[in-house]
Amino acid sequence: MATAYTTDSRFARHTLPNHPEHAGRLHAIAQAVTESGLLERLVWVEPRQAEQDDLLAVHSAAYLARLEATRGHSLVMLDADTYATGESYDTACLAAGAVLAITDVVLGGDATNGLAAVRPPGHHATPNRAMGFCLLNNVAVAARYAQRQHGVERVVIVDFDVHHGNGTQDAFYGTPSVLYISTHQSPLYPGTGAANEVGEGSGVGFTVNIPLPPGVGDAGYGAAFEHIVIPALRRFRPEVIFVSAGFDAHWADPLAQMALSLSGYDSIVRRLVEQAAELCQGRLVAVLEGGYHLDALAYGWANTIRAFLGDEGCDDPLGPARAAERDIDAVLRRIQAIHHLP
Ligand SMILES: [Zn+2]
Repeated sequence: MATAYTTDSRFARHTLPNHPEHAGRLHAIAQAVTESGLLERLVWVEPRQAEQDDLLAVHSAAYLARLEATRGHSLVMLDADTYATGESYDTACLAAGAVLAITDVVLGGDATNGLAAVRPPGHHATPNRAMGFCLLNNVAVAARYAQRQHGVERVVIVDFDVHHGNGTQDAFYGTPSVLYISTHQSPLYPGTGAANEVGEGSGVGFTVNIPLPPGVGDAGYGAAFEHIVIPALRRFRPEVIFVSAGFDAHWADPLAQMALSLSGYDSIVRRLVEQAAELCQGRLVAVLEGGYHLDALAYGWANTIRAFLGDEGCDDPLGPARAAERDIDAVLRRIQAIHHLP
């Protein structure tokens, strides 16, 4: 079992001091991955710039032109909380391209699974606009690329970032060949992702939203995976699973109010590794999204690498959340009913 890995110091070129989505996030990850000795055990994959055609499979030409026009400007605010600097467009193309490079290695069979530590993140970027710190939808571009370049028919995207990936949902809302499954805090930014948003046209049933109230932690997430995520995956029979891996559902994260611990994150990642082994020869690609508490982010990502490598154990120096978890059985039963899951 080989695990592929990509990242790039050039991702630091897109940054803004005092913004939560800053270059220090990847520095923290790089330090954890290097110091733990994990890096030398991974198959290194060189990132590349995504091509215009790759991006056009998800984003409109008009939006890409607007984004490219930020090149060379010192700072452009694309919405209230989404910035672009003069180097952001090229950095975003490199982030999307890095995920394509990992996808090539995993679908080409040179590695079983892989991870892309990239910025800027992607899952809020819609076909037509930047939002929520996201410029290009890295995971959506890779899902389309897997279908176009590798002849894959059925792709799953599991998004466990604490925010709903509205951009990814938009990109595939009418598409039955890409199953989008999201666990997210509700209410929370961006406000989408209600349980009854299930897709449209021939895509009905292929968007599975699992909105969870604040305070849900290891037990609740475990139950959501057990009763909804895993049965939905098994029913769909994916050929590859992409993960929008955000670590902002950790209890210490400053932008949300969920209660996952690092151990809880590790458990759901290991469920996905198991499902990939059962359903699609282990083919699993994790792409970094959010995560704004630097230790939770760095440990969460390093633990994910260990799970992908098949190592035992999990580092959880931050420990469990202090508050008791609320019961979400009724919430989960309602979502199971919406999606006709047993
Ligand atoms: Zn997030």
